[in-house]
Amino acid sequence: MIKKILIANRGEIALRIIRACKELGIPTVAVYSTADSLSLHVRFADEAVCIGQAKSSASYLKQSQIISVAEITNADAIHPGYGFLAENSEFAQMCEDNHLIFIGPPPKIIKQMGDKAEARATMIKAGVPVIPGTEDVITNIQDAKKMADHITYPVILKAVAGGGGRGMRIVREPGQMEEAFSTAREEARIAFGNPAMYMEKLLEEARHIEVQILGDNYGNIAYLGERECSIQRRHQKLIEESPSPVVDENLREKIGKFAVKAAKAVGYSSAGTVEFLLDKNKNVYFMEMNTRIQVEHPVTEMVTGIDLLKEQINIANGLHLPKWLKKFKLRGHALECRINAEDPYKNFRPSPGKIVAFHAPGGPGTRMDTHVYAGYEIPSSYDSLLGKLITHGKDRAEAISRMERALEETIIEGVSTSIPFHQAILKDPEFRAGNFHIDFLKDFKF
Ligand code: ADP
Repeated sequence: MIKKILIANRGEIALRIIRACKELGIPTVAVYSTADSLSLHVRFADEAVCIGQAKSSASYLKQSQIISVAEITNADAIHPGYGFLAENSEFAQMCEDNHLIFIGPPPKIIKQMGDKAEARATMIKAGVPVIPGTEDVITNIQDAKKMADHITYPVILKAVAGGGGRGMRIVREPGQMEEAFSTAREEARIAFGNPAMYMEKLLEEARHIEVQILGDNYGNIAYLGERECSIQRRHQKLIEESPSPVVDENLREKIGKFAVKAAKAVGYSSAGTVEFLLDKNKNVYFMEMNTRIQVEHPVTEMVTGIDLLKEQINIANGLHLPKWLKKFKLRGHALECRINAEDPYKNFRPSPGKIVAFHAPGGPGTRMDTHVYAGYEIPSSYDSLLGKLITHGKDRAEAISRMERALEETIIEGVSTSIPFHQAILKDPEFRAGNFHIDFLKDFKF
């Protein structure tokens, strides 16, 4: 059994992992950069070790350093959270080589699903529908043009190693291909050290629907309903909810079964997410698989009553999936707003600085996952997520009104936040009616 967990992350997710560990009675080790010495994950963990300078490459990404800290502190498992090393198969392998449990799937699966072209090919073989597109990596502009003619415009170029919406370009006509191809490749080369590209048909006005899965080390896989993540800005999720307003029992079962098939095809274990696009005619297409816990996992926790972090740790501990997992019932509706330190009135410019006053909302059905507090200085070296506000209600209307009430109660002074933008979306009649898709925010008037 796991005796101590090192958390190779920071911010709200590091705190979330600490909370799960405390409830399971497992001691924790935090690692932190010099910019995070006053961070709450450092304060709440049982032990904390500084691993370097503010820049991620000098701290949270320093693999051998993190392994050494695990050894020195006698931690026997590492939780990578999301981002940083969470989907780095080399790091997962390094853990294994050093007899540390990596809390995630085996390195081979991380690698296989991290290469999105390979993931597509695997799903085609397994009989899971994928978005029409290329099976091979595209290496030159001639092939890119040929493929686009074949798939038919508009198309979307995507980085094989992609993530966070980077290295992605929409191409509507042949004249745009040359520039799009070279800029997307360059962006992917800088972001991921890998310029390889693949191509898909651009599905317009589709919805992003993803399925939470849990798999144990013995081949059992369960799906825990879907999350609707179509409210996105520049391919980045802003508001997520569960269930999706357009998914009924039959569709839920159909998508859930595809997700389980996808997970079984690769022998998945741990918590994971299978992402799909749902087109206007409700056809489902596999998009990618994320081999980690997601930012938006709390909406699933609220409607299922399942603590995903604790289950993920239990799986790493070699426990079987509990039998009741296959029979749980979805209860009510949950929404999550990602609150970022950015100024929606100034084109979402990052707004680092000191939080001078802070008050988290409370009351029925309200949860705030955040690492910030009054006096907290937001470091400029990391992403701008300040926290996630989650509300749960008996139905979607109640979850929305709770969210409006909770956003109004939230006090964050000293920096600009995305809260006014969330409030505007929540007021929108189309959003309230559940009529939206991935391009919704493109024409949204704010
Ligand atoms: P990343 O891993 O970089 O986040 P994803 O493959 O998950 O990239 O895609 C992110 C978002 O980009 C999706 O949620 C969707 O809005 C958009 N997208 C991706 N592929 C397509 C496609 N074929 N057609 C339309 N939109 C797409």
